[in-house]
Amino acid sequence: MSESHAAAAAAAPAVQSDAARVLQDVFGFSSFRGAQEPIVERVLAGQDTVVLMPTGGGKSLCYQLPALLRPGVGIVVSPLIALMHDQVEALRLLGVKASFWNSTTTIEETSAIRRDLLAGNLDLLYVAPERLLMPSFLATLNDIANGPGIALFAIDEAHCVSQWGHDFRPEYLRIAEVTSYFPRVPRIALTATADAITRREIHDRLRLLEAREFVSSFDRPNIRYVVEEKQDVRAQLLRFLQTGDDGASFRGSCGIVYAQSRKRTDEIAEMLRKEGYDALSYHAGLGSDVRSAVQQRFRREDGVIVVATIAFGMGIDKPDVRFVAHVDLPKSLEGYYQETGRAGRDGEPAVAWMAYGLADVVQQRSFILSSDGSPEHQRVDQMKLDAMLGYAEAATCRRRLLLAYFDEESGDCGNCDVCLDPPELWDATVPAQKVLSAVIRTGQRFGAGHVIDVLTGKLTAKVEQWDHQELPTFGVGADLSGPEWRSVVRQLVARGVLSPDPTRMGALTVTEASRPILEGTARVELRRLSAAPAKVRKTRTSSSRGAAESTASDDDKALFEILRDERRVIADAESVPAYVVLPDRTLWELVTTRPATTDELLAVNGIGPVKAEKYGATFLALIAAHAPAVRP
Ligand code: ADP
Ligand code: ZN
Repeated sequence: MSESHAAAAAAAPAVQSDAARVLQDVFGFSSFRGAQEPIVERVLAGQDTVVLMPTGGGKSLCYQLPALLRPGVGIVVSPLIALMHDQVEALRLLGVKASFWNSTTTIEETSAIRRDLLAGNLDLLYVAPERLLMPSFLATLNDIANGPGIALFAIDEAHCVSQWGHDFRPEYLRIAEVTSYFPRVPRIALTATADAITRREIHDRLRLLEAREFVSSFDRPNIRYVVEEKQDVRAQLLRFLQTGDDGASFRGSCGIVYAQSRKRTDEIAEMLRKEGYDALSYHAGLGSDVRSAVQQRFRREDGVIVVATIAFGMGIDKPDVRFVAHVDLPKSLEGYYQETGRAGRDGEPAVAWMAYGLADVVQQRSFILSSDGSPEHQRVDQMKLDAMLGYAEAATCRRRLLLAYFDEESGDCGNCDVCLDPPELWDATVPAQKVLSAVIRTGQRFGAGHVIDVLTGKLTAKVEQWDHQELPTFGVGADLSGPEWRSVVRQLVARGVLSPDPTRMGALTVTEASRPILEGTARVELRRLSAAPAKVRKTRTSSSRGAAESTASDDDKALFEILRDERRVIADAESVPAYVVLPDRTLWELVTTRPATTDELLAVNGIGPVKAEKYGATFLALIAAHAPAVRP
């Protein structure tokens, strides 16, 4: 096989056009995305490669396409058994000969796969890491290598080698042992986790020391980031869903709502159902059959909203998730980025929305303190929480902050709430001094509520009980409203000037950082509490539901619904998710271009010859039957 590598490398332009041809003919895409092309070329040339690309970046193509062009079968190692079926079905719909072999595969299926492998009848085989390590599988690999050949090894979710990560899989440490028996077969390791430690571990533990690394930007420009101050989170969530952030409702869209506790996910799902949304809750307290039913409905159906604890996540590769909402503060930016990254994998506009308040900080602090981790561990958790708070309270572009956290520089994005509707900053030095002095004078033993009552001069039973109406600070803050004071307190907490003590019901205490403020040597500039909840200006170019949809005429929308219904019927018949048949984007392109011939159909992005042959006649007939659009 090494000669053919050399030939392939020498004949680079020819290889490139082969790749472009397969891209068009099999996948139906007119051009490569991001770094796909150089990655594909490298793998085609038989060289080891490490690919770091954000979720939705298009990693799969980087090994699927070379596997089709290189002789033999591509072996894909993936820990996500639940997804293998859909991945393989999606490939088969493209006319690719693919199979998976894992613990769910029956004995009959196994022998059929083995036959296909040895006869050179498979392009791609997905296997779980446990399978790869089995001596019997190794023997099969050996037979293939001596027969039709192994095109490549793709190691998906390569961060599973990292013992520091949440997804550590001990079997991943032994993958290199297996691949070392086949030194001529190129390996490609892929992940969406990019931090430096994980990258080093991938190179070391998969023995990919010579591999070239391709790092894509981790920016997800189609995701809009929006954060609101939490007041009445249910009402806020409903408003967000009803109006999007520009009047385009999320009704009928697929989304995920993350909440802190099981009870809360149940309650919020219930509330959404009452409001007519197709919402389901998902958490570790549900039986595994219920959980997999929820996963299944989410993956297969349009417009399902899952309200989940963080238990819902890995292995969700649904491309058309239009929003991810956090009704509670996540504990780290890594987690937040991963969760919000599940939105908009198809590249269409999507929104990451979050509501956060002071109670979230107190709760997260208490989680950290009550965890049984070492002091060192707690310190790290606290630092992560501080970074999260910095993001939540950001007065500058949120995307810039997020990317900077992952060591990537960028300019202002123009697609986050801060960029679109910059917050007003005000000199809050005097109010900050008032809060600090009220905290100190009441003995650093009360939560924000009582401190604010003292400041605004409210004669509550608690105030009287402690004689706090006698304090010189009593009523000195009547110039600001209760919510305005809460906003001041929250921002002081986020900056570490005040610290709520979760072991004493959130009692506020002052920190070292308060000294210069009290002494009058430091100015405090804060965001003004916005009168209206995070609204976004109308001057933007795209909507939260997709540019095509927002500008579509009623006639276009009607045709879209007709095509979508047909897609549903096909998806059910083939028992695959609807987006596997054709993604939304492709349906919209059909609506706007209204192809009348097979050639016109093939020009639509996402339709290759196999899909054109299978569904072309049906869709062309539906389009023809629909009253033609009046075009200028
Ligand atoms: P990842 O595995 O990196 O999360 P996928 O491989 O699932 O991403 O790809 C994400 C989406 O992008 C899929 O819907 C895929 O069909 C689409 N895609 C990938 N490459 C291209 C391309 N070159 N042109 C258009 N769409 C693409
Ligand atoms: Zn921005």
